[in-house]
Amino acid sequence: MTDEATWDELETNERGPVPTVAVVGRPNVGKSTLVNRILGRRAAVVQDEPGVTRDRVAYDAEWAGRDFSLVDTGGWDPDAEGMAKAIAAQAELAIKTADVVVFVVDSRVGATDADEAAARILHRAKKRVILVANKVDSERMNSDVADLWSLGLGEPYPISALHGRGSGDLLDQIVWAFPEKPTGQLKERGPRRVALVGKPNVGKSSLLNRIAGEDRAVVDNVAGTTVDPVDSLVEIDGDDWVLVDTAGLRKRVKFASGTEYYASLRTEHAVEAAEVVVVLLDASQPVAEQDQRVLTQAVESGRALVLAFNKWDLVDEDRRYYLEKEIDRELAQVAWAPRVNVSALTGRAVAKLAPALREALGGWGQRISTGELNQWISTLQAATPHPVRANKAPKVLFATQADTEPPRFILFTNAKFDKQYLKFIQRRLREDFGFPGTPIELVVKPRE
Ligand code: GDP
Ligand code: GDP
Repeated sequence: MTDEATWDELETNERGPVPTVAVVGRPNVGKSTLVNRILGRRAAVVQDEPGVTRDRVAYDAEWAGRDFSLVDTGGWDPDAEGMAKAIAAQAELAIKTADVVVFVVDSRVGATDADEAAARILHRAKKRVILVANKVDSERMNSDVADLWSLGLGEPYPISALHGRGSGDLLDQIVWAFPEKPTGQLKERGPRRVALVGKPNVGKSSLLNRIAGEDRAVVDNVAGTTVDPVDSLVEIDGDDWVLVDTAGLRKRVKFASGTEYYASLRTEHAVEAAEVVVVLLDASQPVAEQDQRVLTQAVESGRALVLAFNKWDLVDEDRRYYLEKEIDRELAQVAWAPRVNVSALTGRAVAKLAPALREALGGWGQRISTGELNQWISTLQAATPHPVRANKAPKVLFATQADTEPPRFILFTNAKFDKQYLKFIQRRLREDFGFPGTPIELVVKPRE
């Protein structure tokens, strides 16, 4: 066996991240037909009518021995005025998530205003963009293609997705454009990363010891994840978790002054390194300003969040009554976070931490499809419209969830929106879709 063969085997055995290719373009230009052509089977649903709602779907694809993920970006049902915005949002999403963007234009129609708007966005991207002139079914139609140079995205590739003309050359181009290091959207996850934070003396070290045991191993080489020497690999409720920054918990540095400052630095460091943050609160004490600061730090980091009320062994009937009131009053900003009551001292319900972590991570990674989201927004706006401002009825024209971890929504609107109304949308999003344990970001993009 040659060295080369060995390398090949190694590469195919490794399930590392693969490059992502996003196909974008107006409805009806032939995106689905192209995706089917690339996949070599009729997997994507092809619709004859323009604007039929489809969701973003990712397929495993392969060309010239290279695996990649092919994303057919979604459909919507925009009115004429919403179209340019919708395309722009789609282009932005593609730039963010893909390694290579394939921008499809209908050569028989030529570049429309919406195509030009998308091209301007794609032009700014640092990602490789390949311009495809589709529906060039025969040689004599090649002349239609030259006009598309005006989009400023380089040479247009003439193809016929329907008949396969030129699609091999296009695939070669796509594969050549792959970066050395793909963004790795599909990378498999190792154990999830958890930070334990809270004000001094709330019981962080005690809880760590309870979970990990005194003689816990500090693991620095776990498959599928990066574990710093300061992290601990632990098991809770049958799952592996990485507790980040546990060195900071073990070696407690007490400064004569500035303790607060160092505590906040440690919190920041741990939170940055984690996916989900457990904020410990002392159930036997009133919620303090210092707790609020830690909470704010956790929320602003955009990580998933779990609240753990520690020292539950000290809580009696009376205290429980007051605690409930306090939580309603003081912790309203994080009412969406799962709560667990634990005792590091007795070990009470420490296993309950795992379901709460899973729930919060679930909300953090939750995604609503573009189709469903827009339908939901229309229904919401029909029932409870934004109040009229300066003779104008502010309206969401198109919405998309541009990101997860944490969920981030972009609302393309015809006017500025009141804070009140955004809060209302946010509340209803949680009521109807859940999003437990995660902050939600709403970004409004009013049309200029
Ligand atoms: P999408 O909305 O961009 O995904 O477009 P579709 O893939 O659903 O295609 C829209 C219409 O254009 C369908 O009727 C296709 O059969 C047709 N179409 C797609 N590619 C070509 C092509 O290369 N040549 C011709 N003549 N028609 C095509
Ligand atoms: P840290 O500063 O947040 O790491 O807090 P420690 O883990 O050092 O705990 C501070 C104090 O609270 C210690 O005296 C612990 O024994 C005590 N403590 C921690 N957890 C509990 C608990 O669940 N119940 C009770 N009663 N005491 C606790």
